[in-house]
Amino acid sequence: MKPIILKLGGTSVEDAGAFRNVAQIVARAVDDQRGLRPVVVVSAMSGFTDALLASVQDAREGNAEGAVAGLEPHFARHRKVVDALLSTEPASISQLLEQSRIEIEGLLRLVASESDSENGRQKYYQDAIVSFGERLSAALLAAVLRATDVSAEAVDARKCIITDDNFGSAAPLMSQTLASTRRELQSLINSSVVPVLGGFIGSTAGGQTTTLGRGGSDYTAAILGAALGAHEIQIWTDVSGVLTADPRVVPNARSIPRLSFAEAAELAYFGAKVLHPKTLQPAVERDIPVRICNSRAPQSESTLVGSETEKSPQTVKSIAHKTRVTTVQITSARMLGAYGFLRALFEVFDKHRTAVDVVTTSEVSVSLSLDDTSALPAIVEALQEFGTVSVESGRAIVCIVGEGLRSTPGIAARIFSTISDINVSLISQGASRINLTFAVEEARAAEAVRRLHQEFFETSDEENATAKGMASAVEGRAEVVS
Ligand code: ADP
Ligand code: ASP
Ligand code: MG
Repeated sequence: MKPIILKLGGTSVEDAGAFRNVAQIVARAVDDQRGLRPVVVVSAMSGFTDALLASVQDAREGNAEGAVAGLEPHFARHRKVVDALLSTEPASISQLLEQSRIEIEGLLRLVASESDSENGRQKYYQDAIVSFGERLSAALLAAVLRATDVSAEAVDARKCIITDDNFGSAAPLMSQTLASTRRELQSLINSSVVPVLGGFIGSTAGGQTTTLGRGGSDYTAAILGAALGAHEIQIWTDVSGVLTADPRVVPNARSIPRLSFAEAAELAYFGAKVLHPKTLQPAVERDIPVRICNSRAPQSESTLVGSETEKSPQTVKSIAHKTRVTTVQITSARMLGAYGFLRALFEVFDKHRTAVDVVTTSEVSVSLSLDDTSALPAIVEALQEFGTVSVESGRAIVCIVGEGLRSTPGIAARIFSTISDINVSLISQGASRINLTFAVEEARAAEAVRRLHQEFFETSDEENATAKGMASAVEGRAEVVS
């Protein structure tokens, strides 16, 4: 009997009503005729991680009282869930809430007293504080499930997810994680108890609490799925699957029934927040399907991500975008015909542990984009050894994805003619040729996404045919660097 992973995001546990709702989703999975064994991964109640991080910031600035006070409304939200749903076991959960409040307060006071931000312990304290969000959700949800007659037990995810000590963005140590996950969960699963774990959190081999990076609960679900050989990994969130664009920018975006692993990975990487960028990695390795479903409307459409690829009629399946991107250009005549230049250049980014997203090159220049600018001044200084460096902040990346891009002529021209009055740079087609990515000024990103969405998803087939004809006519004007 195979496990099935159910990951419930922050908005899926935002209040008592949401807890009641997801308890029913888990109960249905337990009763499912296929005999699958649910393993639940849950996020902090929505907004709580943000509040915990803000409290750490307040404490760092020496305002311990403000830091503690700012969390009060969130403890009250947890208590409301206890009052509404846990009449049978309120004492132990209330105790846990109170105990957590005291521990968080103690940690915040430590942060305030050691306000030196260079101090290595600050990052450790931050992860320890933030981890309470997921830990409390897991305890609450397990209790709510028991109150709904589902046999469930909260399991401390830090005993399963073993990571390096890169606090705030820790990387799981896979072989240890796989072994400890199986050790911690297998007997519960065998005895039909639903394990409930907080996502996002882990610990070093030495037992220090870590976190996997914002939005990391999806990644936890995928890691557990891989460790347990799950039948499926289900990501329950507040939208009906992966949509044709970010619904906050394109309100009439539609859900996509199927995506290949590669398509979903590109979308997640280039800004579709519905999936954490690392989620697909463990799933692909073991060929475990990932389904994205709406916890507020469980019967509505969902997206199935799997190894099969499928061309959609529109060829373009979705448009992702991300803002707050910085581009860097290095120009050097020394590059011309030289070897070893690119390696030396990228070593600078390696050394500063900074990930690079999009890269394009010409004979004498390299352009690239980054999200994380914390080490940028040092990086720029090192790059100046190679040539002239220019930096542009306030950029956005737009990424158009679809397996059909591989084989459909004219797509690039159609894209660039749709937004011909918007200045684009860093045009790149990934090696898999299923995406076309470019940078625009951040202020025009939403407009670019809306216009492209209209072009590819909101015009009728007839109009599409005419548009394709037009696109072939202008093809060749857009320069694509692969
Ligand atoms: P959760 O708390 O369940 O993890 P997230 O807020 O992390 O939920 O992710 C869901 C949100 O992702 C959606 O509410 C939506 O605003 C955003 N999003 C961005 N791009 C897309 C997309 N292409 N498809 C669906 N949702 C998207
Ligand atoms: N609670 C964490 C966050 O807000 C992790 C998650 O929700 O996936 O980033
Ligand atoms: Mg998320």
